[in-house]
Amino acid sequence: MASSSGEHELLDRLSKMAKKNDVWRSYIGTGYYNTHCPPTILRNIFENPGWTTQYTPYQAEMAQGRLESLLNFQTMVCDFTGMEVSNASLLDEGTAAAEAMALCIRHNKRNKFYIDQRCHPQTIAVVETRARGLGYVTEIVNWRRVDFSADVSGILIQYPDTDGNVDDFSRLVQNAHSNKSLVVCATDLLALTIMKPPGEFGVDIAVGTAQRFGIPLGYGGPHAAFFATKGAFMRLMPGRVVGVTRDASGEEALRLALQTREQHIRRDRATSNICTAQALLANMSAMYAVYHGPQGLRDIGRRVHHGALIVAEGVKRGGHELISELFYDTVKFRPTCGVDAIRQKAQEKQINLRYYPDGCVGISIDETVLKPDLNDLLEIVDSPSDANTLADMLGTEPLSSIENTAFRRTSDYLTHPVFNRYQSETSIVRYMKQLENKDLSLVHSMISLGSCTMKLNSTTEMMPCSWPEFAGVHPFVPSDQVMGYRQMFEELENDLCEITGYDKISLQPNSGAQGEYAGLMAIKSYLQAKGEGQRNICLIPVSAHGTNPASAMMAGMKVTPINVDRGGAVDLVHLKDMAEKHKDNLAAFMITYPSTHGVFDHDVRDICDLIHHFGGQVYLDGANMNAQVGICRPGDLSHLNLHKTICIPHGGGGPGMGPIGVKKHLAPYLPSHPLVSISQSESQSLGTVCAAPYGSSSILPISWAYIKMMGAKGLRQASQVAILNANYMSHRLKGYYKTLYKNTHGFVAHEFIIDCREFKKTANVEVVDIAKRLQDYGFHAPTMSWPVTGTLMVEPTESEDKMELDRFCEAMILIRQEIQDIENGKLDKKVNPLKMAPHTQAVIMASNWDRPYPRELGAFPATFVSPDTKFWPTVSRIDDIYGDQNLVCTCPPMDSYTNSYGESSEEAAAAS
Ligand SMILES: *Cc1c(COP(=O)(O)O)cnc(C)c1O
Repeated sequence: MASSSGEHELLDRLSKMAKKNDVWRSYIGTGYYNTHCPPTILRNIFENPGWTTQYTPYQAEMAQGRLESLLNFQTMVCDFTGMEVSNASLLDEGTAAAEAMALCIRHNKRNKFYIDQRCHPQTIAVVETRARGLGYVTEIVNWRRVDFSADVSGILIQYPDTDGNVDDFSRLVQNAHSNKSLVVCATDLLALTIMKPPGEFGVDIAVGTAQRFGIPLGYGGPHAAFFATKGAFMRLMPGRVVGVTRDASGEEALRLALQTREQHIRRDRATSNICTAQALLANMSAMYAVYHGPQGLRDIGRRVHHGALIVAEGVKRGGHELISELFYDTVKFRPTCGVDAIRQKAQEKQINLRYYPDGCVGISIDETVLKPDLNDLLEIVDSPSDANTLADMLGTEPLSSIENTAFRRTSDYLTHPVFNRYQSETSIVRYMKQLENKDLSLVHSMISLGSCTMKLNSTTEMMPCSWPEFAGVHPFVPSDQVMGYRQMFEELENDLCEITGYDKISLQPNSGAQGEYAGLMAIKSYLQAKGEGQRNICLIPVSAHGTNPASAMMAGMKVTPINVDRGGAVDLVHLKDMAEKHKDNLAAFMITYPSTHGVFDHDVRDICDLIHHFGGQVYLDGANMNAQVGICRPGDLSHLNLHKTICIPHGGGGPGMGPIGVKKHLAPYLPSHPLVSISQSESQSLGTVCAAPYGSSSILPISWAYIKMMGAKGLRQASQVAILNANYMSHRLKGYYKTLYKNTHGFVAHEFIIDCREFKKTANVEVVDIAKRLQDYGFHAPTMSWPVTGTLMVEPTESEDKMELDRFCEAMILIRQEIQDIENGKLDKKVNPLKMAPHTQAVIMASNWDRPYPRELGAFPATFVSPDTKFWPTVSRIDDIYGDQNLVCTCPPMDSYTNSYGESSEEAAAAS
């Protein structure tokens, strides 16, 4: 690997690379459209570390801003789809459809699933791959001629479909329901601004992508997918759900609901393996809706449709055969002159159209299309009339419009005040800042989350993501238009191979958990090819991250838990017993290294030998790569959480990238894609795990830039400093807290676990009290109760300086003092700063203060916490149980609504 490079030098190099991408105008559609990300959203959210460096909102008291925004997202999705509940984003439309299939099968326990032939090809591929992993049967059908037999769990349809066509699915839904099968509808939010929502056809689940709501194409991602369903399926729903609850002061507050469905609790019985999703992009799409408001969105939606009507008219007048008369934005036609003539003319204008395998051509209109663009398209289709003429002829209320049919949308949407207040840039900027100010991120202080690796996301790394040469590229353009991307992928792959010691990398998985799933599917395909398809046992230490067992389940493997010993290392005896017991069926062993207990298992070599001896593969969970880069390289395959070790910011719960690296023998089985050739051995490939060929391509410049700026020496040094920092902190806290696991020399790896269990007995203090109390000191809690309950796992990373490490240690030491004061009676056992944490301004400044400790101790517990540095949590401690018992997962209705200015909805309405 080359030596390090400076920031300006690097940007220079990268901009040369970016220029090798030819950004043509694309009308390819297929689930990806050009958009105008409002510049104020681009700058104030996407390019703003106050939003991009937030963690997943588990500490809800200091995350009310993004929780409100995600609730807006859920409300927006429910309104447009006509469904009752929505989650706060999934990875992409394809995986959302696959999750929907899984829900159907979980619900009615039948193992066959229909997919309509007119779904997007990448959606079909992702669902088929998922079904294969799980051992389900899929059948591609024509929904008009489908018979529901007793073993059919459900059907996936698309509205409008991949040909652009719009159909009435009411009868299909009736037929399905009379057979107790479910109906999943992939749909398009922009189309639903003017079209009858799928919920009104009675479908059970609606999925899709919110990319069209202001998110750049980014050569495939990142974008937020959505998943909405009926209230009855709420608890089966995958992904994160934001819900309304109350805090300790009885005020309304938001938090992540229904956590018990998730893989960190339920492991292989979780509703899905989704951990990192697309929170940042969901926030941006929600803000796009907040900014435009219902009328603005309807105008955009209608303008796109009218553009398509004009193109369709031109197509007819050009003498071509229109495939569908009823469409929203996509005009599919059979050219009378042959495809090549059309393609030729399009290429001359540097325009990409969609060329279907059946010889037809598709043109998808989006919000960026202007009159000159329409004229170019009309020329390509030999229209004798230009856009003005056709627009005049069609009039402002075109007869051919979908709004003159039964598909016209009659129901309201986005009537909530939040979508009707911020339609000027003045007000939207303030709203975004107001939300941002409620949330703690890396711009405030270190976020020492063990296993999550919250490190510096440098501006230089981030800048290229919004360059048009990276952001403006459709994922299905011909590969000679993306030479810049190809060079970057190649260099990144080479660097990652060198770092990990693997032979081949797949950049498709767009999260760590998707990487696990892809990796296990690769193992499965490899074993099948070897004639050992019966091997399906996956051994996983009990200390593993919940995504491990959840992903193994998705790959159709059976999970056998392996004990860990008192030192936190894998129990070798148990492992050996289990490997031997399952020797005929052993597929894989998943190990996190250094372990989730923060130590390097010194037996890792023996473990690998043992698993290989019994015919299994060693899957290394690469989440802890920050302790290994440039130091060691174990395993047969592994994913790398680029959003942890390789500097992609967490974005409040995504985006991420989880590419997998494999040794040579597994390389032929890596992911492929139905529309873009990315694998040298498509017939052997495990299939497709993500909708886009290279996952969330447009954030890969971050990782590329980090590696190039650091160079081999810098990367090694980063790992060394990360380990040093963890050891420094563990040492400084000695005498106050016990570090649970150390190696035989008394050292930890890049993170360490401190034991808080004894305080329950001595002071009735639980680990959650310490976590909440840290908020008063301006810190986000470390990882709590994982992998051991009653503990905190601290990971400082190399990015924090000694002053910050010391501040955190001082906070922990002062908290230990408070615990001692409870132990010896100086502080009340029940009403003390720990139990009452966090302290909001409202509580501290209220005229009645009835607590037996001073207000100052509540709000300013250390000298470094002063009025000029204080971060204030905005709500008191969250009541999780109340929220789960009284589930509300959309914006409160008009009449009960109080906005952020403290006005009721009536006051707000009067004011506007
Ligand atoms: C974060 C993490 C994962 C899951 O990765 P995502 O990108 O969030 O899907 C898996 N294993 C470990 C140890 C992790 O820390």
